[in-house]
Amino acid sequence: MAWCKKSHRKDPKFKNLTFSEEFFGEPERWKCAGCAYEQGFNDAKAGLPNNPRLNKLDQSQASAVRHRNPIEGYNMGYNDGLKP
Ligand SMILES: [Zn+2]
Repeated sequence: MAWCKKSHRKDPKFKNLTFSEEFFGEPERWKCAGCAYEQGFNDAKAGLPNNPRLNKLDQSQASAVRHRNPIEGYNMGYNDGLKP
C-alpha cells in the first residue's frame, strides 16, 4: 500500500474534518483525506457521480490529514469541484 507524500497532508482545511477512527476499521482510517478530497474534486469536474473509492487512495498519518474522515474529505472535494 502506498503512502501519500503530497503537500495537502499539511493543508489546514482538512482540520475541519472529523476524526475517522470511530467510523472505520483498518485500513480505511489510514486513508489520506487529502487524496480523498482530490478524488472527489476530480470526479465532480469530470461530471461523475459522488462515489468515494477509498481502496484507490494512498494512506497517510501525517499532520493535518491524520485520522481524518476520508468520506468527508471526498465530499468536501466534490462540493468544491461543483463550484464554477
Ligand atoms: Zn494524500
